[in-house]
Amino acid sequence: PFEKSKGQHILKNPMLVETIVQKSGIKPTDVVLEIGPGTGNLTKKLLEVAKSVVAVELDPRMVLELNRRFQGTPHSSRLKVIQGDVLKCELPYFDICVANIPYQISSPLTFKLLAHRPSFRCAVIMFQREFAMRLVANPGDNLYCRLSVNTQLLARVFHLLKVGRNNFRPPPKVDSSVVRIEPRRPLPPVSFKEWDGLMRLCFNRKNKTLGSIFRQKSVLSLLEKNYKTLQALQLTQKEQMEEDKVSSEDVAVLADMVEDLGMGNNSDEKDDEEMQVDDTDMVGEASEGSSFKDKVLGVLRQGDFVEKRAAKLTQVDFLCLLSLFNKEGIHFS
Ligand code: SAM
Repeated sequence: PFEKSKGQHILKNPMLVETIVQKSGIKPTDVVLEIGPGTGNLTKKLLEVAKSVVAVELDPRMVLELNRRFQGTPHSSRLKVIQGDVLKCELPYFDICVANIPYQISSPLTFKLLAHRPSFRCAVIMFQREFAMRLVANPGDNLYCRLSVNTQLLARVFHLLKVGRNNFRPPPKVDSSVVRIEPRRPLPPVSFKEWDGLMRLCFNRKNKTLGSIFRQKSVLSLLEKNYKTLQALQLTQKEQMEEDKVSSEDVAVLADMVEDLGMGNNSDEKDDEEMQVDDTDMVGEASEGSSFKDKVLGVLRQGDFVEKRAAKLTQVDFLCLLSLFNKEGIHFS
C-alpha cells in the first residue's frame, strides 16, 4: 500500500521515534509542524509533548488513516491535518518542525522552511545520509558544497543521529541521518541573491583557484555587464542599502536556485575538463575588458584570495570576499 513515488517509508522502530522526539526539545507550549505524517507513528509522540501539531500530508489515504487513528482520543482536538503538497501550501505558524520527509523534496523543503516568517526555533529532520552530511559539511570536507554554505549562512546545522535503513518499512535504498537546523537570528546582512550568485561561481569548480575562476572570460563579461548596468542606474547609497536587506523573497529565490542542485554536486568531476578551457579563456581578450579584469583581480589580491579554493573557504571568508567585491561596485545578481 506504500507509494514509492511519495517516498513513503514508515518509521517502525518506536525507540527511534522516541529518541527523535526527545532530541527535538519540544516544550508544552510549542506548536509543532510535521511534514509527511504518514500513518502517524511520529505524530502520536509529538501530540504527547506539544501544545498542538499541524501535519501536512500529500496522500489523501494517509490523511484518512491519520484522522481515523486519533479520532475520539484526547489528542484529536490538538491535531490539525492539512492535505496537500508541503512545497505548494502556505505554512502555518510553528515553533518547531519535526519530520521524517520524503527525500526527493529535501533541498526545496529546507529552503522553504528557512524562508518562512516568523522564523521557527528549530527543525529536526530525517534526511538521506549524504544530504545530511552535505548540510553539515565544513570547509575542507569532501562533501562541502554550495548546499553547505547556503544553508549554513541561514542556519546552524547539527548532525544528531545516524539511522540505518532497517528502521523503516519498506526499507529505503539509502541510510539516513537526523539533523537539527536552527535558523540564525539575526541573519547576516547580505543579499541572498548576491550571495548565491557568488557561491555559484565559486563552487561551480570548487577545487579551482578563485584566481583562475575570475580570469575566465565568461565570468568577467557577466560581472562587467552587471557592473555597467549598475553604474548606469547610479544607485544611490540608500537604494543600495535597500537592496542589500534580507527579504524572504530573496530566500525564496535561493530556494529555487538550490532546487536544481538537489543531491548532485558533481563539480569535482568537472574540474579536469574545465582546466583547459580556462587557458584558452585568456586568449583573445578584448583590451577594454582588461581594466575591469584588473579591478576584479585587484579585489582578489586585496583579500589574498587569488590562490584560494572554494573547497577550503569559510562563511566568513566568503562574506569578506563579497563585501570586498561590493565595495568596488561589483555585484553578483
Ligand atoms: N512520518 C511517517 C513516519 O515516519 O512513519 C511517514 C514518513 S514517509 C518517509 C513520508 C511521508 O510524506 C509519506 O506519508 C508521504 O505520503 C508524504 N509526502 C510525500 N510527498 C509529500 C509532499 N510533497 N508534501 C507532504 N507530504 C508528502
